[in-house]
Amino acid sequence: MKEEPFYPCQECKVGFLHRDHAFFFTVQDGQPICVPDFPAWVCDLCGRCEYNSAALTELQAMLETDRRSRRKPHQSRKIADQDHTSASVDPQQQP
Ligand SMILES: [Zn+2]
Repeated sequence: MKEEPFYPCQECKVGFLHRDHAFFFTVQDGQPICVPDFPAWVCDLCGRCEYNSAALTELQAMLETDRRSRRKPHQSRKIADQDHTSASVDPQQQP
């Protein structure tokens, strides 16, 4: 049998925080980020929730790598488009 750790709530000092999932919302670079089932600690009495700090760090790292990988495809696209035009017929060429 597993024993769940219980932490007293800092807000109401009566309730206890238990493992749950809460709606998480943040803004990164002007982009709203919502996570509907974010791991959190929720008070069973007043409903205060504290987000899991490990999960928060993980989300930050995930957003950071996502932002970096999104920049790359834009730069290499132009070169492929220019290759097509070189095969077109030159109208000024006389037979
Ligand atoms: Zn509470």
